[in-house]
Order: sequence, then structure tokens, then C-alpha cells
Amino acid sequence: MLTIGTHMSIAKGLAKTAENVVWMGANTMQIFSRNPRGSNYKVYSKQEIEAFQKIRKENSFGALLAHAPYTMNLASGQERVYEFACTVIREDIARMDEIGMENLVFHPGSHTGIGIERGIENIIRGLDQAIMGKEKITVLLETMTGKGTEVGARFEELKAIRDGVKHPERIGICLDTCHVFAAGYDIVNDLEGVIKEFDRVLGIELLKAVHLNDSMMPFASHKDRHAAIGEGVIGMEALLAVMRHPLLKELPFYLETPLDDQGHKEEIRMLKEELGRKI
Ligand code: FE
Ligand code: FE
Ligand code: ZN
Repeated sequence: MLTIGTHMSIAKGLAKTAENVVWMGANTMQIFSRNPRGSNYKVYSKQEIEAFQKIRKENSFGALLAHAPYTMNLASGQERVYEFACTVIREDIARMDEIGMENLVFHPGSHTGIGIERGIENIIRGLDQAIMGKEKITVLLETMTGKGTEVGARFEELKAIRDGVKHPERIGICLDTCHVFAAGYDIVNDLEGVIKEFDRVLGIELLKAVHLNDSMMPFASHKDRHAAIGEGVIGMEALLAVMRHPLLKELPFYLETPLDDQGHKEEIRMLKEELGRKI
């Protein structure tokens, strides 16, 4: 079974969003765990959560993904920024676990000058105060482009974070096709080599989700600009090869392409047709 969905707005509530997933011909979704640029979040009523669970069950949704806010920087050396990030990740792991999301992904962060090692130490400490070890949810580190002082553009950095935490069994990886390509992993000409490298450094079993995006920026540019599938420099064939790969094809795929709901619906239809697969 193919598991595919897009990043969805939850402005109209969880249940309505799940209905929208069905309308889109999808069977999973990514949502923000809270306002992506602020700090506030909605408290969902019991009825809302139950209605949402019912729809996902009736439609056999695959693993669901929550995305932590962009303003959260666990690698920061600035106390206020860091404390805020620690609070957000702690609250959102608990909140998203409680509503039954399988995974929560976050950007490891930017060290903003304190150096990659200290940035990684901060991330590890931040995760340790947030993960109790009894959660069902898995926390995913996203592969990044490496713009500025961003941590997580190299598989080795993600490995160092996972190895450093008290509960590595709760940590997995989300591979973003746009980000890895811009980071210098050539999924266009050497997908097999990139997967081998991932497996060598991290272990392929840690890969829990794929962000499926084309890239507006060239290979190894360290710039993060998503394009619709087939409209960027990665291209349709290379992205289909990712989705067809025997080690990746059963993973959940999440589109984060710059399209509206109607555009995403069409993109999903086109991918299913190209792959000859159903949800
Ligand atoms: Fe992301
Ligand atoms: Fe992403
Ligand atoms: Zn991105």
C-alpha cells in the first residue's frame, strides 16, 4: 500500500482536516504541532479528537506526522531562545503523542556561531528533558540543507544527536528530498549511493518518513526552496525512483510542495498514476 499525503492546514480543526485528506485522495497528512511562527496552540476537545480518530480509522490512514514550529531552535546558544525551544519540544511531544500522531519531526536547529559540536550538545540536552521514554510517538530529525549555521545537513550530525540522547529508541529520521539534494547528496544521479551512505551512517531502519519535494535550487547549493514535483532540478523521474525504491516504497511520503489543496490533490493523483499504485 502506498502511504501519501501533504502538509495540511489545521485551521478548521483536526476532524475537518482528516476529512480533507480523504477528499484529496490521500491516506496520511502532516500538520504543524502548533502555530509555526508563534508559540500558541489550540487545546483540542475530547469530541474533536474522537471525531478525528474515527475518520482516520475508517479510512485506514497510515502513520501521521506532526511538524514542530520553525521558530524552535534547540541548537541555539542564546538562553531565551533555547529555553523556549526546550518548552516547545517538551509540550509538543506530549501533546502530539496524546492525540495519536505516530511521529513528530523537527529541524535540529542552527548553532548561530557557537559551533556545530555545542549546537549538537544543546539539541541532545533539549531532547533529554523532553523525551520521557514511555511515549508511543517517535521524534524524527529532519535532514537539512545546511544553510547558514544549520545543523543536520550531514547524516553524521543526525547520528551524533541520536547516539547522544538517553532514549535513542524514540528517535528516527525524516528524509527531505529537496533538503538532501541541496545539502549535496545526489539523489538524481546516484540514489543507490545516497541510500547506501544513509544505511552506513545511520542505518536504513531509522528512516521513518520522506518529505517529497522537488528543489528550485541547484545541487549542493545549501539553499532551501521547494518546487512542485517535476518542476524543479530534481525532476519527476528521480522522485519517482525514490518512491519506487524497495527500501523506501513502504514509507509514508509527505508533499511539502508550493501548491494549494486542489493542486496537491492533482499532484497525488498524478503520482499514483505514474507509480501504478493505490492508497
Ligand atoms: Fe521541515
Ligand atoms: Fe521538509
Ligand atoms: Zn524545506
